Amino acid sequence: MTEIPELNGAAPAGFDYLIVGAGFAGSVLAERLASAGQRVLIVDRRPHIGGNAYDRYDDAGVLIHPYGPHIFHTNSTEVFAYLSRFTEWRPYQHRVLASVDGQELPIPINLDTVNRLYGLALTAFQVEEFFASVAEPVEQVRTSEDVVVGKVGRDLYNKFFRGYTRKQWGLDPSELDASVTARVPTRTNRDDRYFADTYQAMPLHGYTRMFEAMLHRPNIKIMLNTDYREILDLIPHGHLIYTGPVDAFFDHQYGKLPYRSLEFRHETHDRPQFQAVGTVNYPNDYAYTRISEFKYITGQRHERTSVVYEYPQAEGDPYYPVPRPENAELYRKYEALARAELGVTFVGRLATYKYYNMDQVVAQALATFKRLHERQMADLVE
Ligand code: FAD
Ligand code: UDP
Repeated sequence: MTEIPELNGAAPAGFDYLIVGAGFAGSVLAERLASAGQRVLIVDRRPHIGGNAYDRYDDAGVLIHPYGPHIFHTNSTEVFAYLSRFTEWRPYQHRVLASVDGQELPIPINLDTVNRLYGLALTAFQVEEFFASVAEPVEQVRTSEDVVVGKVGRDLYNKFFRGYTRKQWGLDPSELDASVTARVPTRTNRDDRYFADTYQAMPLHGYTRMFEAMLHRPNIKIMLNTDYREILDLIPHGHLIYTGPVDAFFDHQYGKLPYRSLEFRHETHDRPQFQAVGTVNYPNDYAYTRISEFKYITGQRHERTSVVYEYPQAEGDPYYPVPRPENAELYRKYEALARAELGVTFVGRLATYKYYNMDQVVAQALATFKRLHERQMADLVE
């Protein structure tokens, strides 16, 4: 039988909420519910809080993101204001270069990308005409191939998107929903920022410190290194909030819902700088998709530097839902089970099978809290 760890004075009656997963979804809900007076137990099978946004100092003393580079950006004033209760910020605008035909060129594709790739000197107006002349007619934009060839034509698609996407997803762009490559815009100006959101900033002391500030309150208890199934029947609790993979919750009864995984290779180099920008993408060469250098992203000054390579793979920890019609169909079956599961709420990227950024998960969790809170208030009135 599993031993129950010391719960530091948990109320004998148990917890009002058991939250599975201490990433953004679980931590925002824990904080909101605890602030509303609820007693919360948050459980994660990993040895740390923060989920995939967790950061830590490596052996060289460089602040790294063990699960790949996480850059915060949002257009939501509500989300930014909410997180600002738990952290100060360092403004940061991410820049990415793609290694193509022996050059490192700006991605998203912009005026400079086209001019440097083809040795041209087009103006913003002329590049618009250029895109119009090479774009392929696409009647209905359905796939990730349609999005790109319909805007910038086959050659730029082949050089910047086709190989990267095949590596990242193990699928051709024609097999993926349009929403995947539509994340990356096309620009006719010289803006070389990866994101265009209103708020672009990193937590000043890192994500983990921000999560600590969210979860540090008397009516939140944290249990790490614990799969929720180990304690589900042992610790009295009310409502369950689940932020893990939805198919695992239901024992994969309709089959496995595909989640794309990654292997991360971390390296530290004995020099202050490794590459020209925060991330360099490799659409056409190597087994990895991109290399990210953390000091750009965190703003840390250090005489050494740490980088991470991302190698996509099918098996391993689930990181990305895979947006394509057959997966949406399978997800709908799990979603129906989830809706019918009384006393359990499913939130977050893995539990709702949505390719969400951090800010979208925060927004989803805040909306979920409002619903739960209103329901509870209504129950009290009855
Ligand atoms: P998670 O962070 O995955 O948290 C779920 C938690 O549940 C995990 O800690 C897991 O251990 C736990 N869990 C699962 N099952 C169980 C169980 N049975 N028992 C106990 N615990 C369990 N977003 C951005 O906005 N900007 C970026 O730059 C960015 N970069 C990214 C780069 C990579 C490589 C990846 C993979 C994602 C990136 N994201 C980025 C997306 C971001 O990571 C997610 O939106 C966000 O972390 C999702 O939060 P979550 O709480 O839904 O899930
Ligand atoms: N993409 C690409 N080439 C690039 C950058 C992105 O083909 O240089 C495609 C690829 O399919 C990728 C998707 O656009 O998975 C979304 O890119 P993003 O950088 O948003 O991916 P994430 O950071 O979520 O891994």
